[in-house]
Amino acid sequence: MTSAYLFPQTVDETLDILRRHAGRARIIAGGTDLMLQIKQGKYQVETFVDITRVPELNGIRLTEDGYIWIGAATTHRQVWESPIIQEHATVLAEACRAVGALQIQNVGTLGGNVVNAMPAADGSIALTALSAEAQVAAPHERYWTNLQEVFSRPGICKIDPSAELLVAFRFKALGRRAGSAFERLARRRALSLPILNCGVVVQLDEAGDRFEHAAIALGPVAPTPFRARGAEAILAGAPVNEETIRAAAHQAMEESDPRSNILRASREYRKDMVEVLTRRALERAVQQALARA
Ligand SMILES: Cc1cc2nc3c(=O)[nH]c(=O)nc-3n(C[C@H](O)[C@H](O)[C@H](O)COP(=O)(O)OP(=O)(O)OC[C@H]3O[C@@H](n4cnc5c(N)ncnc54)[C@H](O)[C@@H]3O)c2cc1C
Repeated sequence: MTSAYLFPQTVDETLDILRRHAGRARIIAGGTDLMLQIKQGKYQVETFVDITRVPELNGIRLTEDGYIWIGAATTHRQVWESPIIQEHATVLAEACRAVGALQIQNVGTLGGNVVNAMPAADGSIALTALSAEAQVAAPHERYWTNLQEVFSRPGICKIDPSAELLVAFRFKALGRRAGSAFERLARRRALSLPILNCGVVVQLDEAGDRFEHAAIALGPVAPTPFRARGAEAILAGAPVNEETIRAAAHQAMEESDPRSNILRASREYRKDMVEVLTRRALERAVQQALARA
């Protein structure tokens, strides 16, 4: 069935190949999701367009205006090994470190994780907590969009890998009085998808007494990676103490709407665990923020 396996060198060349194949070619990065899906008959691909050798899609850098930029073809291992990510986006380092096993982390990419659009994907949840933006290269334009906008429903992303390319992510590097953490619940290490994931980011005031703002991302508790906005509203401006954290974690549970899954967990168990994971993640993120005076 497959007729070609191509290695473009640039973003423009990638788009040009996709355009010429008019829907019959598809982007492949690590192939850890795509090859299984082809085996299952979900897609038929005539031409694979391997983006892992496009320099513009690789790497991690801290920009002058305080953003972290990550190329979409950067692997999970490159992400969690990066001192920039460990220091300024701990939630993402912890998430990428939790993906599958080391073999998957060595080839699986952050871009593939997002385009595969699972509501509890580790990378997607951490990026959602970081309020990340995604850069998309479409046939006639390149644009930045809020990451949450690219998710459509479970397994369906608005970026079409037979015509468009996810180029990169960017988000604010966390600095003074900011902290982040990732909490994950899974049956065992090698299972591909977790029972529940929670990523949080907190920004405290100068004195470390109050939350300025916070972000709480959860999955799978909705069709796409979910932001617990009600819980975030409880934290904004509130004193940093156990009572506030417990109230926010409880609200995160209230606004989560998980489904029962016969292989992983019931709706009721997941809902209870949302409260536990959110509290743990907030506590760790606050500790990190307080240590960064
Ligand atoms: C054994 C096993 C364990 C796993 N464990 C986990 C886990 O614990 N947590 C988790 O979140 N995931 C897990 N996964 C899923 C998978 O490894 C990740 O989602 C991985 O990040 C996918 O990246 P990839 O580069 O392999 O994507 P690919 O398989 O190459 O591509 C995935 C999809 O995205 C498209 N695509 C890829 N890159 C781009 C791009 N830049 N622009 C546009 N479209 C693109 C492809 O066409 C395809 O549709 C596991 C998979 C396996 C096989």
